Amino acid sequence: MSEKEKHVVAQKGLTDTSQAKRGKDLYYHCGICGAYIPSQPEDSISCKCANIIIDVEYVRLLVKDFSKFSVVRQLP
Ligand SMILES: [Zn+2]
Repeated sequence: MSEKEKHVVAQKGLTDTSQAKRGKDLYYHCGICGAYIPSQPEDSISCKCANIIIDVEYVRLLVKDFSKFSVVRQLP
């Protein structure tokens, strides 16, 4: 099973990081490098190309290119 089949898109076309939902089963998908990042990571994390960065210390999500950003729900 590919990574894509394990996820369904929950949100896309966002224009501001405050719109992005967070949750245990929610991941942020980077359309540039293809990474899936947990929306509630224990440590600060970014995707390989740094389009999506989560800074847990400041509870901050940074996205450079929103057209390559989507929130996905991981299927059980
Ligand atoms: Zn990326």
